[in-house]
Amino acid sequence: MNKPASPNWAERAKQLNIQGKSFINGQYVSAASEQTFDCISPIDGRHLTQVAACDQVDVDKAVAAARAAFNDGRWSRLHPSKRKSVLLRLADLIEKNADELALLETLDMGKPIRDSLSIDIPATARCFRWYAEAVDKLYDEVAPTAHNVLATITREPLGVCGVIVPWNFPLIMAAWKLAPALAAGNSIVLKPAEQSSLTAVRLAALAAEAGIPDGVLNVVTGLGQDAGQAIGLHRDIDGVFFTGSTAVGKYILQYSAQSNMKKVGLECGGKSGHIILADCGDLDAAAEAAAFGIFFNQGEMCSAGSRLILDAPIRDAVMDKILKFAKSMQPGDPLDPTTRLGAMVDKTHTERVMDYIASGKQEAELLVGGKQARLETGGCYIEPTVFDKVSNQARIAQEEIFGPVLAVITVNGVDEAIQVANESIYGLAAGVWSDNVNTLYKATRALKAGVVYANCYDADDITTPFGGYKQSGIGRDKSLHAFDKYTELKTTWLKLR
Ligand code: NAP
Ligand code: MG
Repeated sequence: MNKPASPNWAERAKQLNIQGKSFINGQYVSAASEQTFDCISPIDGRHLTQVAACDQVDVDKAVAAARAAFNDGRWSRLHPSKRKSVLLRLADLIEKNADELALLETLDMGKPIRDSLSIDIPATARCFRWYAEAVDKLYDEVAPTAHNVLATITREPLGVCGVIVPWNFPLIMAAWKLAPALAAGNSIVLKPAEQSSLTAVRLAALAAEAGIPDGVLNVVTGLGQDAGQAIGLHRDIDGVFFTGSTAVGKYILQYSAQSNMKKVGLECGGKSGHIILADCGDLDAAAEAAAFGIFFNQGEMCSAGSRLILDAPIRDAVMDKILKFAKSMQPGDPLDPTTRLGAMVDKTHTERVMDYIASGKQEAELLVGGKQARLETGGCYIEPTVFDKVSNQARIAQEEIFGPVLAVITVNGVDEAIQVANESIYGLAAGVWSDNVNTLYKATRALKAGVVYANCYDADDITTPFGGYKQSGIGRDKSLHAFDKYTELKTTWLKLR
């Protein structure tokens, strides 16, 4: 049998019908102010569409629609098995429209089409399916009390949830919050990042097609300081759930304090330490994981293993392998299915990463990369970059770069490695490689991070919680623990006569 020809993505991109309006109360709408901003592809600078630049007026409208939907119970009081059916249909629709969603994601934020097709879209569908299937199997609790009283502990949806997400995995980051929040019965106002609004807007239409009632899932596009701040400060939003930088996460806490003390969930930045110890028995696997841990998704990964902490005896052997990977992973056209490293999200972010590379040159030794690439395309590309002889106090070791830039730190033994890994304001992820189970387990317990990878890096599944210690955030996405964010616990005492 002949294999079907793989689609010509550049041709398909020309035929796309790209929607840049917001989706409020079941309708595509422009901003009340009629303002828009340009949506530019980082692949080659092409203009994709105009996106509605919403502000407080539009957020007010979306919150009113969400509140009305929540209060009349059209979604919040449906039998859980009914919400399950709708969310399962949404997962099916995401899969049915996978090519279109993957193409929108790649055009909008520059990741390789190979990754959006094989990772972003399937993970998004799986996330909706997993929470759909969970929601009619969650039981509440009855407390052990005296025989003449009954105390129940029940979960109730929060109400109206604000959701604010970044651009690095636009659909997945949204799905991690939307799926449990919708499954639990909440109404939502979602603000995607200004750099990546397109799939969120498309998702809202698919959700309506799946049967999510009007007003339950609203997508308000716009800038952080306008639409985002209005969500943070809104007095009729019960919780705001944010993924993004630590700096903006701190604003979200302030908005809550300044307004109605809304519940806050934060998934913020990282500067994860990835340790390879002298007794690691598979340096090939460790080096490959270290390279993908920083170059996958152009390094635009909250959990990137951006500080590689190498035990002195294996340092040279690992460095040789990493440099080979770095040289072989040159940026390419994201629409070419063979490309592994795509475009950076936009010009501003590219400049920010190049500024870190310039400061790295002052404080460490540049071994490979360090330059922009494919400038002739008009797009945003940076070579895989490796700095050696980095002090853990250096700016490139302490600040999140969010690009394909690896800082290598050499240490002597496991104790120094753990100390260096933990010397960070962040605590999102950490990795450690060793063939000695005692050393390995000791290290996993000592590392201060929400996710620890032992003899692997970036293992992932919706079944496990994800989130950070320290300034990497508050709360966890994914797994059944995510329901803690989108529900209130109610204790009810019933005295029996
Ligand atoms: P960001 O600049 O903090 O933006 C995140 C979101 O917040 C965007 O939608 C943004 O809107 C909005 N925002 C900006 N200023 C705001 C304000 N004053 N009030 C309310 N909302 C505001 O982050 P990013 O550059 O998009 O994403 C990269 C960051 O996300 C990195 O730090 C990365 O580590 C983090 N991240 C964390 C996780 C995790 O699970 N822990 C996962 C992925 C990414 P605009 O469109 O205007 O920017
Ligand atoms: Mg942004």
